[in-house]
Amino acid sequence: MTLAPPVTREGGTITATIQDSPGMRMLYTALNHLDDAAERLQLSPSIHRVLRSCERTLKVALPVEMDNGEIEVFTGYRVQHTNARGPGKGGVRYHADVSLDEVTALAQLMTWKCAVLDLPYSGAKGGISVSPQNLSEKELRRLTRRYTYAIMPIIGPKKDIPAPDVNTDERTMAWMSDTYSMLQGIAAQEIVTGKPIALGGSLGRADSTGLGVAIITESTLKRYGELVEGATVVVQGFGKVGYWAAHYLAQDGCKIIAISDVSGGYYNPNGLDPEAMLKYTKSSPTRTLEGYSVPGLERVTNEELLCLKCDVLIPAALEDQITSLNADHIQAKYIVEGANGPTSSTADKILHARGIITVPDILANAGGVTVSYFEWVQGLQAFLWDLDTVRKNMRRFMDTAFQQVCDLSDSRHVSLRQGAFMLGVSRVADAIEQRGIFP
Ligand code: NAD
Repeated sequence: MTLAPPVTREGGTITATIQDSPGMRMLYTALNHLDDAAERLQLSPSIHRVLRSCERTLKVALPVEMDNGEIEVFTGYRVQHTNARGPGKGGVRYHADVSLDEVTALAQLMTWKCAVLDLPYSGAKGGISVSPQNLSEKELRRLTRRYTYAIMPIIGPKKDIPAPDVNTDERTMAWMSDTYSMLQGIAAQEIVTGKPIALGGSLGRADSTGLGVAIITESTLKRYGELVEGATVVVQGFGKVGYWAAHYLAQDGCKIIAISDVSGGYYNPNGLDPEAMLKYTKSSPTRTLEGYSVPGLERVTNEELLCLKCDVLIPAALEDQITSLNADHIQAKYIVEGANGPTSSTADKILHARGIITVPDILANAGGVTVSYFEWVQGLQAFLWDLDTVRKNMRRFMDTAFQQVCDLSDSRHVSLRQGAFMLGVSRVADAIEQRGIFP
């Protein structure tokens, strides 16, 4: 068993400094939330120790023949946090900043997220340190196949089921599913979720994370007595999560006043049209919002965008965006975390003290893994559901988890994040206690 990386402690809390890498800061934040929940739950030190460690960590070197005949070697990871509640589940990220710390933190978050939604999974995560925009489609395909081959000893439909994350998509999952199936000599489409429909994907998976963010945003507004109609929303990130969250919230009457992507922020106090912006990215050479222009639009930096006055801020890009450096300047009333780990633990405390309600990632963006679960179930049963069944069940799971987190937070007088972590951690701890420690 690999122990979690060492952490610094000051006065009982883990602290990360701004000099630490984003991955390490994210890992500190994840461990900090776990420690807080463990203390509030009065978890036994033994179980707490098990939960702080990661059960399996695989680092792989991936030689890939590039189109020019040169061989490049990339580094990939797959981390499985625990197998307490079922097989591992978690996305695969392609990004230059992918590191072991980051993947480890993300695997832990997946454990708590699956437990909050009461899905029969444990947390896992994978990634490759690569800038995918610099690779051709053929190079990406070779890289994905090599990665799948390299992590094959530890994945499987009943062991660990990957899914898309930042810079990976249905096409990536199709290559992974095909590689695994060819090497195993069987049709094993249920090895991944987030596949194309033609390969056993589920209806309603592509937009599920963003739809879930929209459902949770609306439930939050209603719970605190706010109107959904006309609520002003700022979205950081315009990918699979950010676009769909903006789409559904705009459809339900919210006013999306700012959106950003890697090219920067786009602000219009009179409201933006996510559909027109998506259409623009599809024909733009960089596939980003770079150059997007409509009357009334102002360009802002990503940093400025986070601090715009609005009802709801949805960080839906990368981790560690709201930190001690900008938490004092956030003007949103509510933050709904579409991304994983967008708020550092120090920032979280500042926001809480300022009365800003934060709906944590492990609840807010769980719509994706919930429909991934439905996709896996459909694959195992070889019986496909219609869209209505997917949507109804997704809403049921999201509503139940939201209510349970709110009830726990109310009864224990803690923030929604603390309530969500307490719920997730207690379920995993209970599973470990009931199973006992092998042997
Ligand atoms: P994606 O690759 O589809 O989109 C990421 C978006 O963020 C892109 O629009 C990109 O331009 C933008 N971006 C990158 N760097 C940025 C920066 N510095 N400032 C502003 N925008 C920036 O990824 P995604 O799947 O939408 O994932 C986004 C976040 O949501 C990640 O934290 C991911 O882990 C989390 N998440 C994704 C899913 C899922 O199903 N895809 C599920 C749960 C959580």
